[in-house]
Amino acid sequence: MTQEQLILQERPNGLPDENTFQFKKAEIGKPSEEELLLKTLYVSVDPYMRGRMSDGPSYAAPFEVGEPLKGAAVSQVVESNSSNFEKGDLVTGTLDFQEYNVVKNDKVRKVTTKGMSPSSALSVLGMPALTAYFGMMHIGEPKKGETVVVSGAAGAVGQIAGQLAKKEGARVVGIVGSEKKAAYITETLGLDAAVEYKKGNVSEQLKETCPDGIDVYYENVGGEISDVVWPLLNVFARVPVCGAISAYNLEEGEKDIGLRVQQFLIKSRVKMQGLLVGDFADHYDEAYQALEEAVSNGELKFEETIQEGFHSIPDAFLGLFSGDNIGKQLVKVADAE
Ligand code: NDP
Repeated sequence: MTQEQLILQERPNGLPDENTFQFKKAEIGKPSEEELLLKTLYVSVDPYMRGRMSDGPSYAAPFEVGEPLKGAAVSQVVESNSSNFEKGDLVTGTLDFQEYNVVKNDKVRKVTTKGMSPSSALSVLGMPALTAYFGMMHIGEPKKGETVVVSGAAGAVGQIAGQLAKKEGARVVGIVGSEKKAAYITETLGLDAAVEYKKGNVSEQLKETCPDGIDVYYENVGGEISDVVWPLLNVFARVPVCGAISAYNLEEGEKDIGLRVQQFLIKSRVKMQGLLVGDFADHYDEAYQALEEAVSNGELKFEETIQEGFHSIPDAFLGLFSGDNIGKQLVKVADAE
């Protein structure tokens, strides 16, 4: 029995291209004691994976050239040699990007989707939503009446972050890359206003939509967008720095240079804090409970953009950098049995 794998063929310089990825055939493994054979149903493509394609020092180990890419996935147990799992169980974990995986039973956890699609374990009840929760609730700490700006506001993290701030009674403005996304965040998610950065003059758009300045800036994108946010921050503003996607595909030697922020941070006594979702592992139960509750009572809406078929993974991944996705970008590899 053979299967398809997605291999890192070579490390990209700048934006990944067709030479970065390669599909290969491989044998499907056999599970030993305490192991499971899993069939991949959904994989998540995430911006941080770009960092793992390079070999510079980072918080996550680089992918190996010639080896499968890895990422969050939802799979179904096909064969179980563990008393903790039965054939048919849905599980999630960080798995190789291939159609089947053999893993030790402690590498995955059961998916409890509460009537939702199993894909929700990768979106509204998965890592991006946890990230939004900790960044907004533990670092941003929005208060009633404050103005919150979220960049990447229609994406996997942004769509949740904006709604969480709204739930706290803040006025929320989202920065997005298209008219369709602007309509999504205002009409579907209920945010107060949208700034479309591709239309230009982001500073003016922000001044218009944030007449009282900005109290929380949830940073997902970095670059020129952030440069125009710094001067608008209010005294004691908070800035959870979650991501800087605009800089992920810099070419070798290219530098991410922008406005120097010190003067703004001092003047406004801003608290700016980098965030890594894994640092909050001790609080995951709190976040899951809050997210599940908000979804079930209709307070938290979310979108998933799902491409079909294992071979669409590279395309789905690259689409993150051109803004193709609304909400969480996923790839459906197979149906559950
Ligand atoms: P998204 O679903 O938001 O997808 C990426 C989006 O970023 C695109 O849809 C696009 O939207 C926007 N984008 C792409 N390129 C640019 C650019 N050059 N300038 C401005 N916007 C751009 O991804 P996620 O929600 O998964 O991730 C959002 C951010 O959060 C990323 O930076 C990611 O690395 C980070 N992250 C950090 C984590 C942590 O623990 N710190 C965990 C998870 C994510 P548009 O059309 O609006 O441009």
